[in-house]
Amino acid sequence: MTRMIRIFDTTLRDGEQSPGASMNVEEKLMIAKQLARLGVDIIEAGFAFSSPGDFEAVRRIAQEVEGPVVCSLARARREDITRAYEALKGAPKVRIHTFLSTSDIHLKHQFRMTREEAKQRAVEMVQMARTYVEDVEFSPMDASRSDPAYLCEVIEAVIAAGAGTVNIPDTVGYTNPQEFGALIKRIKDSVPNSRQAVISVHCHNDLGLAVANSLAAVTAGAGQVECTINGIGERAGNTSLEEIVMGLRTRKDWYGADTQVVTEEISKTSRLVSKITGMVIQPNKAIVGANAFAHTSGIHQDGLLKDKTTYEIMRPESIGLEQNKLVMGKLSGRHAFRQRLEDLGYKLTEEDVNRAFERFKRLADQKREIYEEDLEVIVSEEVAKMSERVVLKSFQVESGTNKVPHAMVELEIDGKLVTHSGTGDGPVDAVYRTIAAMTQTKSKLLMFGVNAITGGTDAQGEVSVRLEEEGRTVSGHGADTDIITASARAYLNALNKLGYFSSKQAEGIQKVSLI
Ligand code: MN
Repeated sequence: MTRMIRIFDTTLRDGEQSPGASMNVEEKLMIAKQLARLGVDIIEAGFAFSSPGDFEAVRRIAQEVEGPVVCSLARARREDITRAYEALKGAPKVRIHTFLSTSDIHLKHQFRMTREEAKQRAVEMVQMARTYVEDVEFSPMDASRSDPAYLCEVIEAVIAAGAGTVNIPDTVGYTNPQEFGALIKRIKDSVPNSRQAVISVHCHNDLGLAVANSLAAVTAGAGQVECTINGIGERAGNTSLEEIVMGLRTRKDWYGADTQVVTEEISKTSRLVSKITGMVIQPNKAIVGANAFAHTSGIHQDGLLKDKTTYEIMRPESIGLEQNKLVMGKLSGRHAFRQRLEDLGYKLTEEDVNRAFERFKRLADQKREIYEEDLEVIVSEEVAKMSERVVLKSFQVESGTNKVPHAMVELEIDGKLVTHSGTGDGPVDAVYRTIAAMTQTKSKLLMFGVNAITGGTDAQGEVSVRLEEEGRTVSGHGADTDIITASARAYLNALNKLGYFSSKQAEGIQKVSLI
């Protein structure tokens, strides 16, 4: 019989801890809705105590997203657990996830607690969380570097206290498949009440083993895997959702396990997360990389033409990857547009549809054929828009051979129109320098990249940038058929985010190092 493994997605919590991947509430909500379409079992929506922005994201996702259980992280502290509950209360399916270290290294140097004190605290906090909600998860942080005998004692105690899920994190990405599989087996076999809880795993990819370690854990009896879209997360990232899900699906015969993920939504979810976080996917990335299904060897191509199964273990359609699908053109009306968005799974308000439709019409004037990917960009930019202090009104730029590039930019800053001109090394540089002078930003441009969304010279160019200011990094993105316009949009998007997060940061506490 096939065992169903629960997929716990932490893109919005651990994933957001990737440098530059901070998201605003609207962006998180948009990703959460897509995760629901993808069919994940649990969404970790944030860490409610850490900032008002995280609190609001958890609250709105719990209220507005149907399907998955919505979870907030909380340290093993009363105020954290209460705050998590305040964000979740009233919503239909919720979970509180609390954690405390069990490794001597962490207990001694970071928490300054004895083993006995830590176990006692873990039990009390699980009991407290259970007074608020039915569904409680506990994580012994740094489990893979903990004394296994003590780890098992803590697990037994928190299950007795009411934890329905116990998650075993490889917080620092230190373990390997043989060792981690044996640890999970030991927990399943030697903790007397282990069958009363789901044993989960949370692996980091510091040594490139997160997915392998998670699969070894599934083989040893784990019933839940924590993962992120595109494997984003702290440092080298987390277990990648698409790899674990396709690994189990493709080799169901071997694992005897599967998930309820709708794999046809994988490609779209991956693109959305990459676009919103600005974290580009390497072309050779398993499952979702641009080359993942590109066969170039002549022998392979010959085989594929004769029979697909000769060299293809997964079909591109199984992750929702089809040839760019032509969806609309210039003559498409508002009704057809709305219908098309609904077919793609977007349920938008009237106001959002109108804004997206205007942008679509402008694009259709510049580009004859509009593809599904173009619509995704329009929706992600127009719907996830936050109120922006700085808005691009217009610009002109002159450049060419033997000419100093010159830009004239008109911005609306806090409702006031401002015009300014400047020069630069190239047209993009001229526009950026002019905008920098107008907004008086002190930020540094760390990364600038351009990508074509679909084929053809009339394709939209998508520009991603990363800015750094006072130790905080943010990413911005913008798309247009004109890459200078896309560049200006991406830069302003990032500048607006820097403003948004510096005001949010002032309200909240500093993010702490997490599981
Ligand atoms: Mn983590």
